[in-house]
Amino acid sequence: MTSASDQVSAIVITPGQAGSAQLGTVAREPVTAGSVRLAVEAVGVCGTDAEICEGLYGQAPAGQPQLVLGHEALARVAEVGAGVQDLRAGQWVVPIVRRPCQPPCAACSQGRWDECLTGGYQEHGIKGLHGFMRQELVVAADAVVPLPEALADVGMLTEPLTIIEKAVERGLAVHRLGSGEPRRALVTGAGPVGLLGVLLLVCRGLDVYVVDRRPADSPKAKLVESVGAHYIDDSTTPLEQAAPRGGFDLALEATGYAPLLFRALNTLGVNGVLVLTGVTGGHHALDVDVNLMNTTMVLENQAMIGSVNAARRHYQQAVQDLSAFVTRFGPVVPALITERVPLSKFGQAFNKAPDAIKSVVMVGEASR
Ligand SMILES: [Zn+2]
Ligand SMILES: [Zn+2]
Repeated sequence: MTSASDQVSAIVITPGQAGSAQLGTVAREPVTAGSVRLAVEAVGVCGTDAEICEGLYGQAPAGQPQLVLGHEALARVAEVGAGVQDLRAGQWVVPIVRRPCQPPCAACSQGRWDECLTGGYQEHGIKGLHGFMRQELVVAADAVVPLPEALADVGMLTEPLTIIEKAVERGLAVHRLGSGEPRRALVTGAGPVGLLGVLLLVCRGLDVYVVDRRPADSPKAKLVESVGAHYIDDSTTPLEQAAPRGGFDLALEATGYAPLLFRALNTLGVNGVLVLTGVTGGHHALDVDVNLMNTTMVLENQAMIGSVNAARRHYQQAVQDLSAFVTRFGPVVPALITERVPLSKFGQAFNKAPDAIKSVVMVGEASR
């Protein structure tokens, strides 16, 4: 599948058109001063990609009909443009997904594009910029984060981990407003984001519980127990019953199933913080006793906050923590990647079995 010199292979979609994802090509870009050419090795697939493939959202670059998919990439620097000091060819990197709005708002101008005030930010593979499911791309040198060689096998987990890094940072910052130390944490959902959250919170020294609806002898449940966390199968033992006495100090909602957030809220302890990380389309009405919710949250100093995307420092923290995971949990980390498919069979990455965790498209194989 070696491409002509002016085109590279890519997975492209037509925004708004369900089922349009296909193997195509995009123009090869020139390396300019201050930029680097990346050879993409692997790209993880997540719910965002699935929803873009369903035509629910996604925006092509201005003036172009198609969008290259993919935002959870692991790549190698292939060529360094003039004036780039701190990157060398062969270096493993993770490209940053979100880019600042132009002209930059007060948040974006401080590198906090994750807190963009205008909504005019762009995101590779999602909003206005081609994604990473292509053999190579050119980006500004300051839009990549270097990765140690030891993460060459699992570095595509960096970007989903950045989401958790920011969510945990925000949750703990709010919890720190109180006087106690966080001890018990809940993660809702044993998907890729949830499981990365489990590893992170275990490394942070918390007693971690995970709630999902797979049986207690399923691979996900076993993985959770193997890192010293507790698994709750909500279909047999409801979360409310399985929650420890005193409740949770920190809860991460990682399912995007909105009704679960009220149940997670009910399991918080005094000074507990619930951080929401999933988004949900459509509508889902619920009968909720808002008087009880209001009273409990007030009397127990509780908070519910949202968290989206990540800044550069969350990428750097994610690289450090992913390295710590590999050291501490060994084979558990690559085991999070349950499927690796070649670029030509990218569609398989979207057919997820119930026990599957993260599917990855091995883009680099097509280039070799
Ligand atoms: Zn993603
Ligand atoms: Zn902005």
